[in-house]
Amino acid sequence: MFSAAKGSVALRLTLFYALFFGIVTAGGGILLYHLVRIHLLEEIDQDLLRQQQGISSILAAHDSHALKTELASSTADGGREDYFVRILDAEGRVELSSDLRAWRVPLPSIPTDGLEIGQHTYLTVEIPDARRQARVLTSAVAPGRYLQIGLSLADSMAFLRHFQHYGLIILGTMLSLGTLAGWALARKAMAGVEAVTGAADRIADGHFSDRVRVVGQGREIDHLVHTFNRMAEHVQTVMAEMRQVNDHIAHDLRSPLTRIRGLAENAAIQAAPGSERAELAGSIVEECDRLGQMINTMLEIAEAEAGVQRLALTHLEPAALVAQALELYEGVADERGIALSSDLQPTPSLEGDRRRLLRALANLIDNALKYTPAGGRVEVSLAHKDNGVEIAVRDSGPGIPAADVAHLFERFYRGDRSRHLPGNGLGLSLARAVAHAHGGEIRVESHPGEGSTFVLSLPLTPG
Ligand code: ADP
Repeated sequence: MFSAAKGSVALRLTLFYALFFGIVTAGGGILLYHLVRIHLLEEIDQDLLRQQQGISSILAAHDSHALKTELASSTADGGREDYFVRILDAEGRVELSSDLRAWRVPLPSIPTDGLEIGQHTYLTVEIPDARRQARVLTSAVAPGRYLQIGLSLADSMAFLRHFQHYGLIILGTMLSLGTLAGWALARKAMAGVEAVTGAADRIADGHFSDRVRVVGQGREIDHLVHTFNRMAEHVQTVMAEMRQVNDHIAHDLRSPLTRIRGLAENAAIQAAPGSERAELAGSIVEECDRLGQMINTMLEIAEAEAGVQRLALTHLEPAALVAQALELYEGVADERGIALSSDLQPTPSLEGDRRRLLRALANLIDNALKYTPAGGRVEVSLAHKDNGVEIAVRDSGPGIPAADVAHLFERFYRGDRSRHLPGNGLGLSLARAVAHAHGGEIRVESHPGEGSTFVLSLPLTPG
């Protein structure tokens, strides 16, 4: 039930409810316990007082026969273990007492100091060895004569123990109920927030037309939903505009470029073969192609990173994809004298855009072969990791300085040592944009002098 993360608001609310119920129930229970205890003592004290008044009047009448009968009747058959009567002199010696055998242990001496005739006090005393308590009323009945009447608290204590026992059961029940109620309330309160989070996730995945459809979850949540939907509306508009601008740029740049290319091609055809003019025209055609490719790549990166790219998803075997990419570069590796090897472990199939993934992977292999000197090694491995696959391209090249690593995936970024090699600094940006569009990631591990490893990790479904 509590699978929510440690910091979850629902969990915190639940704990708060449980704590609140616990404290209120425990506090109420303790208060009630003390009130009941005070009430029980008051009843016993009144009982003692009634007894004291009866015996005092017998003592006042100096009727020793009646006194003995009273003591004998109230403590018949070896005495009562819940009641005793003692008459003490000024030194605390017992002059007369009820039958104390039932108490089984000697009763403690209880001070009588400071009592004026007619006054009385109450005291709760421990009965040694018997682990019992007694409530004792001491009164001065005549000069140098004291009457002590005691009542055992055993029954009251047993009652209070039962009270504690049931109190703990009630506390446990209230805590469980409080936790359950807290959980249910927290879930209900969080339902609206979760709906907004779900929609936010879908929008982050590129479904810009998604909206939250939650109403009647309370004013605050409704307000949040309204604000969120307004924001989503705005994002959708901005994205649509961006796509339009991209289309315009693509069109506006591509058209003149195509025209220049066409003119250069014509010039090349008309020029004498091998002439300077023909070479110049040929170079213009090549540069136009390069520029055209750069424009396409930039647009593709922009769309992929903005999440507006439409992936052509198909089920594909990662091993076949890697094998295809390797095949493309076998010739290049041979030409450059680099050993290109692979270690492809079995993995589940994944859903992805074959063309784009192949392009991303090709960029990684192309870089590895481009930056590794002749005689080096490049290994491409494939493995099943967590809920996806990992394709690692490892080379024995020069490695990448730490300062460069942070910028590798920026558009047009090229390492200082790479500037003399062909390239435009867009390869890694594109590879990462493709990984992101598939819900994946690219990371790099590299140390100068120890080669580099680029790892493309992809989930089995773009998510
Ligand atoms: P390009 O290769 O066209 O320069 P990329 O975006 O593919 O652009 O790479 C960016 C930079 O990252 C490169 O200029 C290079 O400095 C560095 N780089 C990429 N791959 C490697 C690698 N395998 N070994 C060393 N440096 C690399």
